[in-house]
Amino acid sequence: MKKPRITVIGSINMDLVTVAENMPEQGETISGDSFKTLPGGKGANQAVAAARLGAEVHMIGKVGDDPFGRALLENFKTQGVNTDPIETEAGTSSGLANIIVSNHDNRIIIIAGANGEVNPDYVNGFKKQIGASDYVLIQFEIPKRTIEHILDLCETLGVPVIINPAPAMQLDDVHWEKAAYITPNDNEAEKLFAYDTDGLPKFHERLIITNGAKGASFFREDRMITVPTEKVEVTDTTGAGDTFNGALAVALAEGKALEEAVAFANKAASLSVQKLGAQSGMPKREEME
Ligand code: AMP
Repeated sequence: MKKPRITVIGSINMDLVTVAENMPEQGETISGDSFKTLPGGKGANQAVAAARLGAEVHMIGKVGDDPFGRALLENFKTQGVNTDPIETEAGTSSGLANIIVSNHDNRIIIIAGANGEVNPDYVNGFKKQIGASDYVLIQFEIPKRTIEHILDLCETLGVPVIINPAPAMQLDDVHWEKAAYITPNDNEAEKLFAYDTDGLPKFHERLIITNGAKGASFFREDRMITVPTEKVEVTDTTGAGDTFNGALAVALAEGKALEEAVAFANKAASLSVQKLGAQSGMPKREEME
């Protein structure tokens, strides 16, 4: 079988994870327990998920001119993601997530950094790669005008787009209608897609709604179909949604029917939650058989 070709356009972050027993009070300095750097960002996570499952994946995004940027590029190479389109943005930091985890609290500050420089002009430089893709996968951690531009461009090029609308942000109807599929989790679905008078959420014909341990749902002939996931021992659900989206893109690009593609994505995501960290639990293709 021909390798499915997926292009991910989105964020690339380094997660800086500090673990301490307690949170410092305002103005207080405390000693913590441990510190780790973990590659993340929704775009990067989804690219790695798709590559592990055997797709040819091209990542379009930017990193900063700093040691994190170099480490993030290295990580993609190790994971088999094509990094040719990735640009290093001078004078900007890489996208960062500063995460402090304590026994009873969890605080995060995100710095968009180079992700904020993923603009329409830069994306236009990769029309050929985008046009040769089976699917383009996007999320909402890059500027809104770039999201809208990608949807317009992919319509012109005739390439189907999967939008993972995370974090939740509203688009106009014209742009939502350009997506082949939209994959919110249940919270995002509630925020973004109100129920119409017919009792169905707006754009239901293209929605695939993930719902944690319950699996994921889509609509067929105005009826909601829920595809359950397997019951598993959960270690860390970080990146479950990203694994789901990467796997969904691979399955659809391979020509699987929607229900089968959702089951494949559930399976991949349920494997990923059994290990710590967003990317470390993402399954390889062999683990899916
Ligand atoms: P979420 O973003 O929480 O809706 O999760 C995305 C997908 O990950 C779900 O649709 C499931 O396929 C999978 N998933 C999330 N949490 C669990 C869990 N506790 N057990 C099994 N699968 C899960």
